[in-house]
Amino acid sequence: MKKIGEGKTKAVFQDETGKRYFLRFKDDITAFNMEKHEQLQGKGALNCDITWMIYEHLKKNGIDTSYIARTDEITIEVSDVKMIPVEVVVRNRAYGSFLKRFDLVSGAKLDFPLVEFFYKDDERNDPQLTRELFELMDLATPEEIEELKRSAKKINGILLALFESCGISLVDFKIEFGKDPSGKLLLADEIDPDSCRLWGQDGEMLDKERFRKGMGKIVESYKDIQGRLKGVL
Ligand code: UDP
Repeated sequence: MKKIGEGKTKAVFQDETGKRYFLRFKDDITAFNMEKHEQLQGKGALNCDITWMIYEHLKKNGIDTSYIARTDEITIEVSDVKMIPVEVVVRNRAYGSFLKRFDLVSGAKLDFPLVEFFYKDDERNDPQLTRELFELMDLATPEEIEELKRSAKKINGILLALFESCGISLVDFKIEFGKDPSGKLLLADEIDPDSCRLWGQDGEMLDKERFRKGMGKIVESYKDIQGRLKGVL
């Protein structure tokens, strides 16, 4: 297999035929634009498992995804998609960068789920996109932007119910989409405690925030989430 791309926590491989693609999860964990970077043994396998469980659940609930099969502990076979360089963030509660922009009580429930778009550009700290900027930068058509928003809200509804059923509050999360060769939008990339904020019933943080804040017990928390999801899926 040939490595054709690599990010901070995942790498993409192509097989000898050039027709099959594989996403491999690494043990790396990073925050603050790589300012903080460590390796945590077993994290890649945990995120691969959690992402796969969530994708299977989303697929059962009618979401189109690029995920085909789990091929080993740390690898998922995916279809050929061209990624849209945009982070789609859905917020149910006020936290993280949202609190830097608006003076709200940390963790306050929002009246409705908010969908925001950010252009993926580490050098510029992922600037936020308005609908017009999205279009102006040729990242998507107005119809596609609407579809991304609709899909993000639907995914949020499914994930909120899933996490609630295992005693977890889904505070916010980030997803990404790609386009298949026919131009169809597909959910792609990870959905795991690196990309979601997940709080237990007592408000305990169970996600990557533990790493950002230096709270420790990161792998243990990810295992807790994996176990809870296994219990309900
Ligand atoms: N997020 C992510 N990757 C990023 C930026 C954000 O997965 O590059 C996730 C983050 O874990 C959280 C949500 O998106 O669940 C919203 O993040 P926010 O905009 O509050 O930014 P942050 O506080 O992480 O800088």
